[in-house]
Amino acid sequence: MSHIAHIAVQTPVHSAVGEPLSYACEEVLAPGTLVRVPLGKRELLGVAWEPPAEPLPLPEGLELRSVACVLPGLAPLDAGWRRLVAFAAHYYQRSVGEIAVSALPPQLRDMTAEQLARRLAPPKPAKPPKKPRKGKAEEEAAPHAVEPAAAPTPATIPSVALSAEQASVFSQIEQNPGPFLLYGSTGSGKTEVYLRAVQAVLEASPEAQALVMVPEINLTPQLEQRFTARFAPQYGAQAVVSMHSGMTNPQRLKSWLAAHTGRARIVLGTRMAVFASLPRLALIVVDEEHDASYKQQEGARYSARDLAVWRGRDTGAKVILGSATPSLESWHASSPAAEGGPGRYLRLAMPSRIGEAALPRVRLVDMGQQPRKAVFSPPLLEAITMRVQRGEQSLILLNRRGFAPVLFCADCGWKSDCPHCSAHQVFHKGDRTLRCHHCGFTQRVPHACPGCGNPDILPLGKGTEQLEEELERLLRNVQRPDGKPARVARIDADTTRAKGALQEQLAAMHSGDIDVLVGTQMVAKGHDFRRITLVAAVQPDSALYSSDYRAPERLFCLLMQAAGRAGRDAGYVAAQGSRAEMWVQTHDPLNTVYTALRSHDYPAFAARQLQERLDAGMPPYAFQAIVRADARTQEAAQAFLNAATQAARDAQLPYLDEVFIYPPIPMAVQRVANVERAQMLLEATSRGTLLRFLNHWQPWLHWLRGQGEHRPIVRWLVDVDPLSI
Ligand code: ADP
Ligand code: ZN
Ligand code: ZN
Repeated sequence: MSHIAHIAVQTPVHSAVGEPLSYACEEVLAPGTLVRVPLGKRELLGVAWEPPAEPLPLPEGLELRSVACVLPGLAPLDAGWRRLVAFAAHYYQRSVGEIAVSALPPQLRDMTAEQLARRLAPPKPAKPPKKPRKGKAEEEAAPHAVEPAAAPTPATIPSVALSAEQASVFSQIEQNPGPFLLYGSTGSGKTEVYLRAVQAVLEASPEAQALVMVPEINLTPQLEQRFTARFAPQYGAQAVVSMHSGMTNPQRLKSWLAAHTGRARIVLGTRMAVFASLPRLALIVVDEEHDASYKQQEGARYSARDLAVWRGRDTGAKVILGSATPSLESWHASSPAAEGGPGRYLRLAMPSRIGEAALPRVRLVDMGQQPRKAVFSPPLLEAITMRVQRGEQSLILLNRRGFAPVLFCADCGWKSDCPHCSAHQVFHKGDRTLRCHHCGFTQRVPHACPGCGNPDILPLGKGTEQLEEELERLLRNVQRPDGKPARVARIDADTTRAKGALQEQLAAMHSGDIDVLVGTQMVAKGHDFRRITLVAAVQPDSALYSSDYRAPERLFCLLMQAAGRAGRDAGYVAAQGSRAEMWVQTHDPLNTVYTALRSHDYPAFAARQLQERLDAGMPPYAFQAIVRADARTQEAAQAFLNAATQAARDAQLPYLDEVFIYPPIPMAVQRVANVERAQMLLEATSRGTLLRFLNHWQPWLHWLRGQGEHRPIVRWLVDVDPLSI
């Protein structure tokens, strides 16, 4: 006899189907079982789900399609994972099936039962070599020899003695349930605290698992090295796995299986790792928790940091959020109840750097007092020159890649606008192209102005490419202590496109081959460079004029993080007789972003920002969502949003009175790839209210999209807790 199975599948994104679908099945499926099911003409991966609370009666005479097969050899995804998926779907206004399936490794989606069975088959034992030659034999035996040890033997873990601040923080983590906000200066040794916390949970239970997240793929190899060095001797090299989008599909499947089966004890990854199947999860670390890349910016727009906190509370795993510049949300949440704050997180502070390294001295250069048009003010150039001569390294930060953001004709006013976007095409000198950073449209640089034929078209503004070229020229007669000429290099999205390029360039920096590194925010955070004594932000001001209320917070974080790359090794700085400095060239030296930076005073900066947010009724004191519509015309996009508001009013949706809906406006970059974009902000004083309203509204948005007059709509989406507005 046949049973009804409820299967979460990825239905086409904007079909209104939000709930798991019903199928016939020969057997009763345990929730979490992986299956393949027919949908339309295709066969898709699905996850068996619990029956809905109020099952709809099936229409009379309806023939359910049958589950095609149950994927063999895998334990069902556990209840904790399913709760996480269901919560994320509910909170971020997506379907359960979409979140569930996109949380699984891509390769699993396309595998037949036979392929999976083959993949899961135990490896054939390696033939013992006839004559055991040492190196070779060890190599062959390796994959089997390092099965995770059942009982840990703490003595084998090499570790350093904790500083007093680290020890105090660690014992607080041991004694309290959390969640914790570890507020530790750059270079205060936060990673060492994470290592200890992980070690503690692994030792406490032979099956416990830990999840450690970092914002950027480029930080994972470094982290992987530190964790593998620490834990592989005791738990085996397979106990530590990575999960990020830079891995191949087979690698991702391998890591996922290791986590799902419990073989992996530690999962390191980027935001996607928050959805890893971790049946014995006991600890979650979110490093650099303030970082914007924890927020997914397409599809389901989830915050991996927020989901980590939710998952930890739900499954009883401890959660540590770490940062030198916490998000204002987390800072607020950790403000102690004794001081009238919410006290939801326990704030732990590590103000000092390891080894008494001083935080860099911050020098603000008032560009109003410097020669006009100088990219590098004379005092900054001199400070960089001195460092090259002493063999020290400098890092020059500019958050704009390419040679110049726009080409310009002084005769007729022509600018290198992208024909498909409301944005300029960026001039890349290296390959003589104009490239749009929004839609990717690329052209050869014209020989003369397309408007008037003037052969003198000029680059306007500076990008990293130009900075690198300029520095090479300015430093061409400067020598390093070994008599060789100064070496300037650049790291940004353009120089690191080739596989392995970034790691190579970072290695050159670590080894001291490079004297001056020009880079975007890619190099500003996380890296433990030992010989940098100068960091300079040459043109940070533009961020101050942004209309986004989070812009000052982001700029402050970036500069604090960048400053954190200087003077990390106290012994080196002292031996050099040098001092660590952070230079900021600005036209607005009295801006509070810079004055707070000068005193390394995050708490003062945060307090001021939070007061402004409170006065203006902004997050974290209010809750926001954005509804966005993309269409062929701006009018159509806005008409859809207006109609959506009207539909909510006409239907008198619950909670409508408690949600403020702003009128639709064009987005900052209004047109991308010939699509016009408009958005509408929603605000409420309660998270729950906003969420419940959205849940009621969602079906109306789907319905509206299907109406004839809104055919020009290309897509619409909801972004809950948006990071930029
Ligand atoms: P953060 O993550 O806070 O910026 P790291 O964890 O990278 O700082 O630590 C900075 C440096 O100090 C690293 O090189 C690390 O190996 C070293 N370090 C950390 N803790 C200790 C310790 N207790 N004793 C000696 N060195 C340490
Ligand atoms: Zn012209
Ligand atoms: Zn474009």
